[in-house]
Order: sequence, then C-alpha cells, then structure tokens
Amino acid sequence: MGYLNTFPLSYKVQGLRIVIIGGGEEALNKVRLVTKTTASVVIISQHIEPIFSGFAVELVERAFAVSDLDGAALVFVAEESEDAERAKAEARRRGIPLNVVDVPAECDFYTPSIVDRAPLTIAISTEGDAPVLARLVRARIEAMLSPGLGKIAYLAGRLRKSTEALIHDGARRRRFYEALVTSPEIEAAEAKGQGLEAATALLAQHANAETKGVVWLIGAGPGSEDLLTLRAQRLLQEADVIVHDQLVPSVVVDMGRRDAERIDVGKAKGHHSFSQAQINTLIVRLAREGKRVARLKSGDPMIFGRAGEEISSLRKAGVDYRIVPGISAALAAAADTATPVTLRKVSSGFIMATAHGADDSELGHWAQLAQSGLTLALYMGKSIASDVAARLVAHGLSPVTPVGIVVNAGRSTMTTYSGHLSSLIESDVTLANGPAIIFVGEAVEAGDWANAAQLAGMSFKVA
Ligand code: SAH
Repeated sequence: MGYLNTFPLSYKVQGLRIVIIGGGEEALNKVRLVTKTTASVVIISQHIEPIFSGFAVELVERAFAVSDLDGAALVFVAEESEDAERAKAEARRRGIPLNVVDVPAECDFYTPSIVDRAPLTIAISTEGDAPVLARLVRARIEAMLSPGLGKIAYLAGRLRKSTEALIHDGARRRRFYEALVTSPEIEAAEAKGQGLEAATALLAQHANAETKGVVWLIGAGPGSEDLLTLRAQRLLQEADVIVHDQLVPSVVVDMGRRDAERIDVGKAKGHHSFSQAQINTLIVRLAREGKRVARLKSGDPMIFGRAGEEISSLRKAGVDYRIVPGISAALAAAADTATPVTLRKVSSGFIMATAHGADDSELGHWAQLAQSGLTLALYMGKSIASDVAARLVAHGLSPVTPVGIVVNAGRSTMTTYSGHLSSLIESDVTLANGPAIIFVGEAVEAGDWANAAQLAGMSFKVA
C-alpha cells in the first residue's frame, strides 16, 4: 500500500477570513468553493472583474497590504503579480496555509472536489495528477445521493431526541433513519416545506410495532444496469425482497441490496413458473408481512408489464404501492438504431403495440395498426414475425414498407435486421436469441441500419 503525502481533513474556518488574491476567473472558481462556508471571504486585487456579484464576498480593489492577512485561516493566490508574490511570502512567514492555483509545488494544501449535501460533505482528493478520476468519482457520488439529502439530514437531527424516546431498539432506529434519508416521499414533502410533518409521521409509523410493507413496481429498463433510473437503483437498495421477471437480466437484479431476498417469478415463454394470479398474491402477502418489495419488471412497468393486474390486487388489499418508470424496449431500440420514431413530414407519432394475443379485438387491432400512418413498435412479435408482416399487408400496408428488428435492445448483445414487409413474408429469417422489437414504417429508413443483417434471403428460424 502506498503512503499518502497529504492528509485529508476538515478544517475549521468559522469566524475567520479566507483571503483570495486575484480578481478573475480563477479567483471565481475558488469563491464558489469557499463561499459554501461561514468564513468571511475577501478578494484582493488591483483588477477585480465584475463577476462576483451574487456571492457574499468583500471586494478590495487595491494593492495587497500585509495586514490583509490578519485573522486569515487560508490564503488562495489566483493571479500572477507582484502583489501575489508578496502575499505568498507573507502567508508563509505567518504560517497560514497557502494554495497557489495551478502550481502544486507551491501549495501547502489542495482543495478537494466536493459533493455538498450540508451538513454532509463528501470531499474527494487525489494525489498526483488524477483530476479526471476525481471528477468521475464525484459525478458518480452526486448521482447516488438525492439533492435533498442534506435537508433531510437536518430533519434527522431535529428528530433525534424524539427518535431516541420512541424507538429503543437500535436496529429499528437505524431502519427509521435509513427510511428517512432514502424515502422519496419525505424528499417530496421537504421540497414543499412539509418535511418535518412527514418525518414526524414516518417516525410514528416506525415507532408503532409493525413497519408497513410497500410494493414498488419498478421499471428495470431493457436489460443493462446503467439504463436503470437513479430512483430505481435507490429503491432496489432499500428493498427487503426483489421479485423479478425472467426478462430482467441478473446484472440488473444484482443492483439490489445484497442481502435482499430474490424471487424469480420467471415467465419465460412456455415456462409459466408463476401464474399472474400467484404473483399478485405473492406481492400482497410479502407487503403484509411488512416487507419492502421491489417488483422489478423489464422496460417500463406500465407497458405490457401486467401492471394493471398487480396494481388492482394491491389496491384491493389496501397495500401501499408506487410506480417507478423505466426505459421501454422500443425506446432503447430506437436509440440503438438512431431511429427517430417520430419524424417531421414522415411520421407524426408512434404506436407501441403487441404483436401477440390482441385476442378478442384481433381484426380491429391489425386494421388499426395498418391504417395508422404512424411508426409501429411491435412487442412480443418475434416468433410470429412473418405472420405479423402478412397481416399488416393484408390490412393495407404496402409490402415495401420498411421494417427494422432490434434483438436485445439496450444490451451489449444487441443485433439488428432490416428489410421490408415483403422480405419478412417471403424469406425465411433466423433472428438471434433474445427479446425483440419490430419497427414498421417509413421512419425506419431514417435510422442507422447500416450494419443490420438483411431480412431478405435468410432462412427462417427463431433462436
Ligand atoms: N415492459 C416491457 C415490455 C415487456 S413485454 C417494456 O416496456 O419494454 C416483453 C416484450 O418486450 C418482448 O417480447 C420484447 O418484444 C420486448 N422486449 C423486452 N426487452 C427487450 C429488449 N431488451 N430488446 C428488445 N425487445 C425487448
């Protein structure tokens, strides 16, 4: 293990002065950082640009005087001048920590990259020349922590005494704090200025024996972990149980809390391991046991996700639920192939439709699709692709209407096919293994299908 040449710490500046020598852009960068503190910030330079309005800083436009460093906790030098040299010498003489912008060799200290959720501050520091790494890590941490986290931490502080009085068990108390800082409801209430009321209600809830179960219907996106929403990721970290479909790959399920129970209700075609009714019963039962249930569904839960049935069971049972949207397969497929599914003068809209089991209204379904004049994104149509094409043509779509198929959209295993309705009907097509979206319509031609396998002339078999 390497030893550190610098030591990260938090330095008290309350009641002290932070002096910045320099009046330009670099000084402004430091001002942004140090005005997060309660220190009084003074800018000294013979040329101060008019860029500091909006910051609580004192502007002193004149030559540097040694007395300027009286009561100074830190000195930043952000210009090259004689004044700057004199300020450096004076800071060193007095032993005041000095930072010379962009000259590491002259610095006593470096400023970290900061994630600010006051009262929580996360400082990221790197040694040597790794600013890119610091920026990257900072962006990740920013994304992990909701913007309102700091305010909620203050709430936790205000409620500490009553929490200790009401909840004696340490584990349960921890669970309350966890719920408080991660709950989107509290965050929403805080944003409306009702944080304290909501937090107090949450505390009462936790103080009463049973913790209330909840079911989150969460969209997992098309199957890559980085196409989850931040909210989905946050709730997966909170869940006691993750109930997921077969279509959600394990990399995505693995984003969940490590010790959460996982239940695969796998509904791979032909292997109905759980019936929909059983799933409905399962999630109600788990919630009634007081569990936080993440019901993870591929894509968006409200699109061909049987969300309707699950929601109505939850409502009937009086179980709390919440829906978290996800990136639906058609949107991932459009992105992967750069296909603008709506396109001026070509397609004024697009339809997400099933290619399967539109049972009772079957005929009307195909007629509506064929006559819509819009781009079609067909779900669940892979194994019957040529049949689908034939029906669309039978109901009036031209056989030369462009078709694009995206298998495994949004995943590293994505593959594409392109052609026309007629090529789907006439030729035999072998599509790669995995779920697929079939796009039909003139807008498909505007996409980037250059590397797509051609549908015409393939032999038919669905892997
Ligand atoms: N709720 C999901 C759809 C579930 S229905 C969503 O919003 O995406 C299952 C169908 O979705 C599959 O038959 C297939 O047509 C489509 N699908 C799901 N994941 C896909 C993926 N990664 N690539 C292409 N199609 C996908």
